[in-house]
Amino acid sequence: MDLIPSFQVDHTKIKPGIYESRLDTIGDEFATTFDIRMKYPNTEPVIHPNAMHTIEHIIATFLRNDEEWKDRIIYWGPMGCLTGSYLIVKGHPTPQEIYPLMLRAFEYLKDFEGEVPGATPVNCGNYLLHDLQMAKWEGAQYLKRLKEESCFEYPVTERLETAQGTFYDS
Ligand SMILES: [Zn+2]
Repeated sequence: MDLIPSFQVDHTKIKPGIYESRLDTIGDEFATTFDIRMKYPNTEPVIHPNAMHTIEHIIATFLRNDEEWKDRIIYWGPMGCLTGSYLIVKGHPTPQEIYPLMLRAFEYLKDFEGEVPGATPVNCGNYLLHDLQMAKWEGAQYLKRLKEESCFEYPVTERLETAQGTFYDS
């Protein structure tokens, strides 16, 4: 089987940041997938599964309530490699346009107090797999990176145009 396009980006060159990883067309509409990369792949500890699960719950809740963006949010969820998350939005905004939304989302996570939203047996498939304190710590680390480091340089040299959409190849 062919490697799917998102795996063709050179992961040894990815830094923490915000990148467009895929652009799909659905009829006349675009759906843009962003790589919300929180860790350097394969060179630093990944996010613990419990913390990642909590990040998923809190940031998904934030995004679906954000007045500016809530109607355009299709999906937020963790990468299986535990180094970041995927954000899929309607339309074709740039990473720079997504940046203020990510700052708001991760500020919300960093300062979150109270019960993790949806962390109950009724609302979640593994409601004990959470770690709010580590999720908040990871949120603070990523915010610092977003504010202090350049975060829009994806290791891509070529765009692949296909029937399904546009992919970014390394
Ligand atoms: Zn859950």
